[in-house]
Amino acid sequence: MHSYTLIAPAKINLYLEIIGDRPDGYHELAMILQSIALADQIDICSISTDIIRINCKHPQVPLDKSNLAYRAAELMAKKFPDAFAQYGGVEITVKKNIPVAAGLAGGSTNAAAVLVGIDLLWNLGLTKSELEELGAILGSDVPFCVSGGTVIATARGEQLSPLPSLDTIYIVLAKYRSLEVSTAWAYTNYRQQFGSSYLRDTENLAARAAAVHSGEIVQAILKQNPVTIAQKMHNDLERVVLPAYPQVLQLRELFATGEGVLGTMMSGSGPTVFALMESEQQAQALKQQVRAAIPDEDLELFVTRTITHGIQVA
Ligand code: ATP
Repeated sequence: MHSYTLIAPAKINLYLEIIGDRPDGYHELAMILQSIALADQIDICSISTDIIRINCKHPQVPLDKSNLAYRAAELMAKKFPDAFAQYGGVEITVKKNIPVAAGLAGGSTNAAAVLVGIDLLWNLGLTKSELEELGAILGSDVPFCVSGGTVIATARGEQLSPLPSLDTIYIVLAKYRSLEVSTAWAYTNYRQQFGSSYLRDTENLAARAAAVHSGEIVQAILKQNPVTIAQKMHNDLERVVLPAYPQVLQLRELFATGEGVLGTMMSGSGPTVFALMESEQQAQALKQQVRAAIPDEDLELFVTRTITHGIQVA
């Protein structure tokens, strides 16, 4: 085969705790990541020149080397020079459905799809863990995006411990199209405001990161209890993003009052806010209720659900 179509799902954070600083300058994190059905489509095919070409109609997505999908292809060419010489370059077409700069790992899941697609195109036969290792070179969320599901992610977010698959939970997502929150800004601000409370010694950092495994939200996931999962959701970055972005806070408050809402939270560094819902019907009703309360065309609303996998070949 000389072309593949891949489905690249977004993620939400059910849990995000900032534990401390790491020697490499990143934060030590304890997160629970969850794949959702909202997904981009990635078409990838071999082209006879040695070029990597990106096509995407979304105005906020770069087409040059700053695109994570481009960087994934470039990494594969560098790691597997013989296959690159044999098969040539690739053309990657991204059909964007996931909002950009939203805390939903849109770029990371595109990169994961390109790793999976090139592995197939070039008949490399890489294992999931080999693909995840390559993903970690590109970004902290990329390894998770390869296999997806429900996962505890520690260290920078690249050390993964899969949890049993969750039964379907319906979700409403809200994001202002023109509102972007830089992930770097969110973490830098968090460090400035709350850095004094960081754990400093390596032993305590590791113990605290490990504690998420026995934490209440993980127990609720193991028991398939969506009510408790929703109650125990947490995101430290809300402490810096919500005060700085009143529109995000307003969405969060509006979601909390909706019928059938089990819990609401910002995903990652935002600004996407999501609500876990009792049923699909109530999710659709909440979407309409929020649309009526905020009739602003800049506000994008989605009804989606949890899924149990990452990148899939269509
Ligand atoms: P994360 O949750 O991993 O922090 P995010 O959802 O907040 O990611 P992205 O959608 O990945 O953020 O976009 C962040 C920035 O990366 C944007 O400013 C965008 O221009 C750039 N970018 C690079 N490659 C891509 C891509 N393939 N898709 C979307 N954005 C991309």
